[in-house]
Amino acid sequence: SLGQNVIVIVPGANLLLNFEDLKRASDVICKAKVVVCQLEITPAVSLEALKMARASGVKTLFNPAPALADLDPQFYTYSDIFCCNETEAEILTGISVGSLEDAAKVGRMLLERGCKLVIVTLGAEGCMMISGEEPIPKHVPAGKVRAVDTTGAGDSFVGALAFYLAYYPKLSMEEMIRKSNCVASVSVQAPGTQSSYPYRKDLPQDLF
Ligand code: ADP
Repeated sequence: SLGQNVIVIVPGANLLLNFEDLKRASDVICKAKVVVCQLEITPAVSLEALKMARASGVKTLFNPAPALADLDPQFYTYSDIFCCNETEAEILTGISVGSLEDAAKVGRMLLERGCKLVIVTLGAEGCMMISGEEPIPKHVPAGKVRAVDTTGAGDSFVGALAFYLAYYPKLSMEEMIRKSNCVASVSVQAPGTQSSYPYRKDLPQDLF
């Protein structure tokens, strides 16, 4: 239906990235403010990147996309922030997310697997956040917009969150998530995946 997406994955160069490449990048990884990983490169290589980051006290943000049913449990323990969408949450927990209550439930389940904070993105509903520090799941709504193409909304959300973690680390998590919802909701209002490019003048200025 209109505004929903279908994704074709062409792994190409992503799967060529290996442990050697990681070693060569270790200086950059260990000095970063935040490291973002997902599953479009070989999972073992992503996991190793998270471990390298963690060992240097670098914040780790993990997005289990595309979803894997048999995700290595270490992905949870090495993720400061584990951010998934409803489909990924269902594949990882076996629970389909049809309501905010379901989102809270899967959030709790994923948190118990050892990450510090879980975000379940919920499309037009924004997202649900839950953390060890604030174990009562909190719904962070997104603004009402007219979605024309949601492709890349999750990536837009994760990218925005990484930006706030790196450049505005003093914001509360909830505030970062609220702003990330806002960036991602801009991305769905135009076709393509790069429409929340930060220099767009029509973006709300309080995002920066
Ligand atoms: P994915 O792209 O991985 O399927 P979601 O559909 O959950 O991820 O969307 C990620 C984020 O994008 C949401 O948390 C929300 O901030 C924003 N978003 C997605 N769809 C809409 C929408 N229709 N209206 C407003 N914001 C949206």
